[in-house]
Amino acid sequence: MAVVDEIRCPNCGAPISFNPGEIVATCRYCGFTSVIETGKAFTFEHSMILNKYDPTQVEELLRNWMRGGFLKPSDLAKSSKILEKNLVYLPFWIVPVTVISEYKGVFERLIPPVVKEGKIEKKYDWLVLARKAVEFPTREYDVPLEGKIPYDFRKIEGFAKVFNSEIEGRQAVELARQEIEAHHQFLAKQDVDKIIEMRSDISVGDAIYLHAPIWFMAYEYKGERYNIILDGATGTVTKGDIPATKFGLF
Ligand SMILES: [Zn+2]
Repeated sequence: MAVVDEIRCPNCGAPISFNPGEIVATCRYCGFTSVIETGKAFTFEHSMILNKYDPTQVEELLRNWMRGGFLKPSDLAKSSKILEKNLVYLPFWIVPVTVISEYKGVFERLIPPVVKEGKIEKKYDWLVLARKAVEFPTREYDVPLEGKIPYDFRKIEGFAKVFNSEIEGRQAVELARQEIEAHHQFLAKQDVDKIIEMRSDISVGDAIYLHAPIWFMAYEYKGERYNIILDGATGTVTKGDIPATKFGLF
């Protein structure tokens, strides 16, 4: 069992419990967010995205997903049993950035190879997952930021869990920088085979702390368990395990 610790909410005095590793905690009675180590107020914008579905509706969404797509067994929707449906408000940091990368590289597919220069200019709302041990496909998750509102604890369903952040704002910005540099290396390698030099100029805006509604679900099909991650704002399956269908001779 995890050791749970407690601080007093600086705003309403209620106890805020948190798990080891959590750095930023939100009071479930008043929605106030504190930094655990210092107990001080939190200076970033705290937003949330609303969940639009109840447990019955997400089950229907999952069955619909099971019915579509040619890679799925034809009896999947009919023969599966839903084992779990848990709504979690997952914490993210959103780091708005403008990036200009300039690179020089060798294009080796020509003989003789040529040296090429290029420039990549991009703007991102770069998403950093604020939990370390959660399996979540952050890069495939198209966070519906247009639905973002100020965090309101009254909008959190009684059955939902709210996870706290395990990284603070500055760390999130640092992680975003590293991920963006790696991503731009990848982009430059679409253009040249070998990078000789590359520099990225990253200007960072104000990071936002965001709780987004994610349904972690599981179903059983022919005795095996499969996991589903469903976006509670759009109702789409962000990641879903599909039983392997066997083709061929048997
Ligand atoms: Zn409070």
